Amino acid sequence: MIFDVAARSLTSKSVLIPVESLLGDCSGSRMPAVDPGHLSFDSARQAIESCPTSALRMVAEGERRQFIMDYGECIGCGYCLGVGDGLMRPAGKVLHCGVARAALIRRWDVATGEELLADDLVKEGAAEEIRRLFGRALNIRQVDAGSCNGCEAEIGALTSPYYDLERFGIHFVASPKHADMLLVTGPVTHNMAEALRNTYEATPSPRLVVAVGACGCSGGIFSGSYAVRGGIDAVIPVDAYIPGCPPTPAMLLTGILRVLGAEMRER
Ligand code: SF4
Ligand code: SF4
Repeated sequence: MIFDVAARSLTSKSVLIPVESLLGDCSGSRMPAVDPGHLSFDSARQAIESCPTSALRMVAEGERRQFIMDYGECIGCGYCLGVGDGLMRPAGKVLHCGVARAALIRRWDVATGEELLADDLVKEGAAEEIRRLFGRALNIRQVDAGSCNGCEAEIGALTSPYYDLERFGIHFVASPKHADMLLVTGPVTHNMAEALRNTYEATPSPRLVVAVGACGCSGGIFSGSYAVRGGIDAVIPVDAYIPGCPPTPAMLLTGILRVLGAEMRER
């Protein structure tokens, strides 16, 4: 049996998964999407009531109401799917990866279903400088600031032959001194706050910080716990955010390439 597997592996053609089929793919993440065609006050209220976090909410602006979906707080529990008369459905793609925190928050006018667009830009300063200096090569130091390790399992898969992060010239390094980017997971626990700050200080400028997962973006399910400070930006400045609980490797890849402005520059 094992020899059959080895023989098949040695004789089959090498296949590289094209980056276009990975970008934004969120299969397996259980992230929801909003179908504005089914948006009404009642459907929004039902969806909000099903959500165990504050990822779904409604705010009033004068006479008008906005329905809000915050990907940075969504833990992908799927409880909202199937409620609200079809308002929420499984997302096919989540392109809001590697963006500014404000861009993770999507808003719709409840009366018209029209989406109210947010600023979609990553803070450009450090990203521009990194692109200028490093071209296609990037070193990442991954930092666990208090994660459950779900995000680490997905980050680990990035180096597998399937996702093959190294084809983009992107490598993980063991020391912040060699890093251009910190990829940080977890709600920051009190015990890890100083270590995270020290790691940030040890990373030479220009440096990018990317917060990973619902915990990294907002504190996730641990938000408000006595044991945590909150999301990564409660302790160090963050340039871009990748949502999900955990984000899939494809979402991580989308976010990292987006920060570098390198989505389509496959090697
Ligand atoms: S999948 Fe996200 S938006 Fe839906 S109920 Fe869970 S946390 Fe809320
Ligand atoms: S975002 Fe989810 S998977 Fe990642 S550390 Fe938090 S709880 Fe774990």
